[in-house]
Amino acid sequence: MSRTTRKSRKKSTSISASIFDVAIIGAGFAGLSAALVLGRYLLTTIVFDAGKTRNHRTEHVHSYLGLENISPSNLIAQARRDVLSYDSVDIIKQQVTAITNNKDHFVIATCQEHAPVKAKYIIIATGVLDIKPDISNFNKIDGRGAWHCPHCDGLESAGKSLIVLANGKVGSSVGAISYAKEFLGWTSNIRVFIQDNCPIDQEQRNEAKRLSIEIIENDPVVEVLKVSDRSSVKIKLLSNSGKVYYSDVVFYHLGYKVQNSLAKQLGCELEEEFIKVDKRQQTTVPQVFAAGDIDTDRHYVVFAAASGALAAISIYEDTLKKALET
Ligand SMILES: Cc1cc2nc3c(=O)[nH]c(=O)nc-3n(C[C@H](O)[C@H](O)[C@H](O)COP(=O)(O)OP(=O)(O)OC[C@H]3O[C@@H](n4cnc5c(N)ncnc54)[C@H](O)[C@@H]3O)c2cc1C
Repeated sequence: MSRTTRKSRKKSTSISASIFDVAIIGAGFAGLSAALVLGRYLLTTIVFDAGKTRNHRTEHVHSYLGLENISPSNLIAQARRDVLSYDSVDIIKQQVTAITNNKDHFVIATCQEHAPVKAKYIIIATGVLDIKPDISNFNKIDGRGAWHCPHCDGLESAGKSLIVLANGKVGSSVGAISYAKEFLGWTSNIRVFIQDNCPIDQEQRNEAKRLSIEIIENDPVVEVLKVSDRSSVKIKLLSNSGKVYYSDVVFYHLGYKVQNSLAKQLGCELEEEFIKVDKRQQTTVPQVFAAGDIDTDRHYVVFAAASGALAAISIYEDTLKKALET
């Protein structure tokens, strides 16, 4: 279909004047992927963007086919350009604070003062918020020597010394030692600091001993002292008792907060804090969809983009079905 035949709304006209077909909450990989597909379906779409994606501190995105090593900010910038090439899609830099269900449409409120925006469908793509180590100068190594996901960045530990910062009890199901074990394909030089007061159980302790994973309890890391990156990143850490430790890389496993407050407001069912969706990304509330990290504990850019696209396709199928029935 040619650009001139597209259903479009003049961008920058008042966003509160019309009822959008779809409102997407979150302009990360899932939200923008959904917006791209919806643009090609000519569905009027508004994307709310509260700011940075989860991985914005890291330098590279890995395992995204065709774009290995691209920086997250460049990937998002290109995605925004792609999305905005479709006339029916707008992105606004605003954080959504509330959504109410008015049966035939939803009313979306933001922290900015203007009339609420209305939409017939919602896609929640707000992602999760990582709990970072509460240690001085952590920002010096965050995303440049310290990461949290073995599947994304575990290769950085290959043949190197690794310090894991973990809690004895984490919100997620993976315990400190089970997490540390995930790195054994890359390195056997692993030391685990238990950062909270919660002791790990005997089973994990035995497993660590069997695999020569060192555990340090009751002496958490409190500060990043120095980072030298002449050959590779070498990190100097200070523990609470004043001991100094060196490591090439640091991984942390302290849990995350699923950003599900809007889903709760709408009455969507949750499964262990994640939004419950069916095979079409539909939540338990009609016309509310979810995509990305928010509905799964498998957190990958490629999965987020795929689920966003799937939510968009499902919405198009719904709208077409309804249009053909009337
Ligand atoms: C350090 C690090 C490195 C990683 N490396 C990789 C990697 O190499 N490869 C890989 O595949 N994955 C990687 N990941 C995982 C990847 O970042 C996530 O899987 C991906 O960002 C999920 O996309 P998403 O769209 O669901 O969420 P996000 O990308 O986090 O986007 C959510 C968006 O929603 C916005 N938002 C939240 N609440 C609101 C609101 N109320 N109103 C409006 N907007 C809102 C946020 O500001 C954000 O822009 C990494 C993660 C981290 C932390």
